[in-house]
Amino acid sequence: MSIFTAPFYIKSPFRIQEGMLSLRGLGFRLLREGRVFKEISSQLEKSQYYSHEELRQLQRERLRSILRHSYENVPYYRRLFKALHLTPGDFKDIPDLEKLPFITKEDVRKNPADFLAINANGFFTRKVFTGGTTGSPLKLYRDLYSINFENAVLGRQYRWAGCDTAGKKLVLRSSPVVPSAVTRPPFWRYDFFQNRLMVSAYHLSKKNIGCYAEEILKYRPSILETVPSAGYLMARLFDFKKMDVDLKYIFTSSEVLMPHQKVFMEDRFKAQIFDHYGTAERVTAIGMCEKGRYHIYPEYGITELLPLSGRKGYFEIAGTTLNNFAMPLLRYKTQDVLRLSSQGCPCGRNFQTVEQIDGRKTDGFFITKDGRFVSLLSGILSIDLRNLIETQFIQEGPASMRIKVVADKEYSFRDELRLKKSIRDYLGNDVRITVEKVEAIPRTPNGKFKQFIPGGYKNEMLRCGL
Ligand SMILES: [Zn+2]
Repeated sequence: MSIFTAPFYIKSPFRIQEGMLSLRGLGFRLLREGRVFKEISSQLEKSQYYSHEELRQLQRERLRSILRHSYENVPYYRRLFKALHLTPGDFKDIPDLEKLPFITKEDVRKNPADFLAINANGFFTRKVFTGGTTGSPLKLYRDLYSINFENAVLGRQYRWAGCDTAGKKLVLRSSPVVPSAVTRPPFWRYDFFQNRLMVSAYHLSKKNIGCYAEEILKYRPSILETVPSAGYLMARLFDFKKMDVDLKYIFTSSEVLMPHQKVFMEDRFKAQIFDHYGTAERVTAIGMCEKGRYHIYPEYGITELLPLSGRKGYFEIAGTTLNNFAMPLLRYKTQDVLRLSSQGCPCGRNFQTVEQIDGRKTDGFFITKDGRFVSLLSGILSIDLRNLIETQFIQEGPASMRIKVVADKEYSFRDELRLKKSIRDYLGNDVRITVEKVEAIPRTPNGKFKQFIPGGYKNEMLRCGL
């Protein structure tokens, strides 16, 4: 359970909540001041200027070590290698990876523990739940090295942007830092050790936006870390109220950044956006450099691109981790899609350039009775809901939600209660919820389905320019 939905956090006065949040922040800060983080960061600083051959050599070495570890310690791979009559010695070079089959989200969802290394405890493993890009909740494990690696990769992107990692940050992400029952400001909490003002993504409304602006202007951050749909919503509400909040850098992640969102946010906040595509499964990562182009990070994972039939230039992304030893996923199909760029990048790095990424999108906003707009419904699935295969949220009326679920045979009433509780933790107790079990969720022509279908609030949204 995340600290933010724990009863002791929800019931505490806001100063105590800030204390808890800051202590948690202190943990993250100490991690970033630790030896492992510094070693990875300095390695990443060098490898960004490696030649193609040097990068391949680095990948080869890491791949060998992750394959040996998977063979020796991960139940799923021990069985698989045996069944295929393979040993780590059969993998001399990167293309040898093709001797292993691809794995899917469904393989991991059904039995996450099968992918957990038997010696994972030695790596200070952390358990996480994620809504995933298709609304299929997954239980995943990460080790301390992988957490450090992730932070170091993000830190390098900060350096690409030319901004100070210790600078003041405004954070608008999916964690419910302010409990849903709170109806009056402050709709934010300070994380003192990480220099962050964390604002709630669940209290944004025409009525509340004025006090958000006041607090942000008082704090004067130059950096915004956000999810595209929430950052865009905030920019739209500021615009609607004719309020100016100037930043310098915006770091987006966790959803597809759509071109209209990028243009609007950069203009409204007078900032440059640096987008990051990551995977909760820690198999691949892609980020924008200072020249505004996406690059696949070769140090992070081995990224394979599988051509999509009927869509020329588009590929499904599959990845093999080179950093997460607690749960090493090899040749994992992400179900996300990208379009390759045929051009290099003026930044001079020998990293593959990408034109566009197509993954999780937010299709609209849920509107509560008191006029709050909420875009981040996928956050609701960040709890243990392993018996749900797919979910779709539909707004039916004022604060009324229908959820279509495709469930597996272990699904029970308890799962339904857990899902409802999570929604109320994020959206408030007055949301009416109906859960409907269905055989399948209808697909759009490109084979995906909409995770959220907004209700009849078009006029209200149009009024705010959404
Ligand atoms: Zn570049």
